[in-house]
Formats: sequence, C-alpha cells, structure tokens
Amino acid sequence: EQTKWGRPTVASVDLEAIRENVRNTARIAGPDTGVIAVVKADGYGHGAVRVAEAALDAGAMMLAVATPEEAVELREAGLEADILLLGASPVPFARVASEMGIIITADSPTWMEQVAGEAPDFGRPLQVHLKVDTGMGRLGVRSGEDLLRMYRTARAAKIVVDGVFTHFATADEPDNEVWRKQASGFREAVALLPERPRLVHASNSAAAFMHPDCRFDAVRLGISLYGIAPSGFVGEHLPFPLRPALTLSTELVHVKRIGRGDTVSYGATYRAASDEWIGTLPIGYADGFLRGLGGQDVLIGGRRCPVVGRICMDQCMVRLPREMAPGEPVILLGKQGDEEIRPDEWADRLGTIPYEVVVTLSKRIPRVYL
Ligand code: PLP
Repeated sequence: EQTKWGRPTVASVDLEAIRENVRNTARIAGPDTGVIAVVKADGYGHGAVRVAEAALDAGAMMLAVATPEEAVELREAGLEADILLLGASPVPFARVASEMGIIITADSPTWMEQVAGEAPDFGRPLQVHLKVDTGMGRLGVRSGEDLLRMYRTARAAKIVVDGVFTHFATADEPDNEVWRKQASGFREAVALLPERPRLVHASNSAAAFMHPDCRFDAVRLGISLYGIAPSGFVGEHLPFPLRPALTLSTELVHVKRIGRGDTVSYGATYRAASDEWIGTLPIGYADGFLRGLGGQDVLIGGRRCPVVGRICMDQCMVRLPREMAPGEPVILLGKQGDEEIRPDEWADRLGTIPYEVVVTLSKRIPRVYL
C-alpha cells in the first residue's frame, strides 16, 4: 500500500477489470472451454498474486507462469489452484513440482527420460503437459514419434499426462498460412496419443478471440486478462470490449515558468518557443517510463500535455497549458476526463508491443489494488 509520505507515482490495478475480462472470455468460449490465467512476469507487471486471485474468483480454471520461481511464489502465497509452468523446467525442479502440485511442461524426450529416472522417488505423482512445437520453433517436440516417446516414457514412470498443448506464432494477424499449418499439425499430434489427456489447449488471447475452432478444452489468456489487445488487428475484431486494468498516475511535484529560448533537461534538446509553464513529474526511465517516450503525452486537467526534453532516470518534465499547482493529478496510462492513454500508444512510440510496456514498469512503482 502507498504511504502518505512516499512519492505519488503509483500503478493502480482494477481487479474488477481483470474479473470482467475473465468472465467475458469464459462466456464467449462456452461451457466446454476453461480459462487459464497467464500471470507470468509478475502478472504482466500487474502483480501475479492479486491478479491470480481475481482471475480464479471470476472462474479461471488454472494459472500459468513462465519460471519455477513464479510457480513457487504463487504456492507460497497460499494459492491452491492448478498452476502450469509453461517454460522449460530444470530437471531438479520436477521433484519440487510434484511436492507442490505444480504441473510442468515436458518439452523433449530426453528431458522426459531424465525426469522419469527420478520420478519413482517422488512422494506424489508428477503431472505434466506435453508441448508440441507446431511452428513456433521454441519449446516442444516436432514429430509424432518424439511426442509418443515422451508420452510412453511418462506413463511407464507413472507420471500423469494431464495435458497437451502448442503455441501459435501468428494468431494475432489475419488468417494466415503459418497459423493454419500450426492448427492442423496440432490436431494431428493430439490424435496420435493413445488417450486424450484431460486438457488439450493451444490458444493465447489472440487465437481465443480470432479462432473459435481452436479453443479446445482451455484458452491461455495472457495480455487480454489485463484488458490489453494482443495487436491492433485483434483490437479491431474483439468479440467484447476489453477493460484495461492498470492506471499509472502521479502528481506534479514542481511547476515553473520558463522564458522563450530557455531549455529543459539533459542535452538541452528542448527549447521553449515562447514563455511556458513547465511541470516536473516524479517518474523516469528507472520506473519504465523509458527515454524513448520523449514527446509522449500525459493527461493533466483532462487535457493532453507533452513530455518535453529528455526523460531522466527518476523525473521528467511536461509543458502545461497554464499555471498549475504542485499536487495536480497526472495520468500516464489510463483515463482522465474524456481522454485516455493506453499502453498501445506508448508501444507505437517505442516501436514495440504493449506487452513490453507493461512488463517494463519497474518494481519501484507501488502497485495498489482497487
Ligand atoms: N501461452 C504461452 C505458451 C505463452 O508464452 C503466452 C505468452 O506469451 C501465452 C500463452 C499468453 O499469450 P497472450 O499474452 O498473447 O494471451
């Protein structure tokens, strides 16, 4: 929670927005498809534990993370839901996973054989999801033969094959060849298994919305859980409006009048064209308000005001439309009056994707929950 004496820069996370995004996804996915809430990278910068609780509350069937540490963090926070580790598990983590009831990803026959060699000593059965690489070129097996080898090795070692999954490389683009090849390759792979595991899953947010025929038993909802569209293309074709959860706000901490020709910040790259009111904000690139965001607008008094001059490590300056007092509220991401700034706007300026914008917001910014 925020202190009374601390810096006024905070990221507020509206947990009702998270719940709404889960409920809407579950509704369009239908009763036979569950929602796996992807809370890796500290819940895409929103705070994994609180987001996970909200998503489960709204009906998510499982949580997914990227690293062993992230899975353990959720368990240690007291969450009892199923947790799937999507990333590669170091072999020694298999024992911890079995003890903590964490489901891990089996991504190659060799890995499976190493884990199977240890599994008889585990006190509780280990659960795995088999990963098929249908075209992402990242984790997983690329042949039916390797898939069956993993499956048989697991079964022989009494490892529970709870699921099988793949990941799409181009689901956020208009219907395309790569996507079609991945979808059909995955269907073929699943059909090879002697028994269909409990959970067959393939879709990230983009595929969940764009490719209803690929929803299978569950969709892995990441970026859209947080109310952010995976791409501009998907954003234009959403089956329901996503509700952004995060608002990044601060306050003016200092206001000054500068004269025509005066300069602002390092390198003196900004020169006032006339007498101007300049406000200083206590946020900078060490917070994830990256230097490349120079020129970006923020919202003050319901209006857009541009950042002028270079963004510093802990501070930056904005041009104000008039004199304002320190303490004036400032929105960097979110809504104020009729104006809204979404992570996509920062992403366009930075030449990146909104995913990178939210995960870059640093630990120095307290997360508060509404
Ligand atoms: N599944 C896997 C394997 C992932 O790596 C990710 C995230 O990159 C997701 C699902 C969630 O994707 P998105 O955030 O696009 O919904």
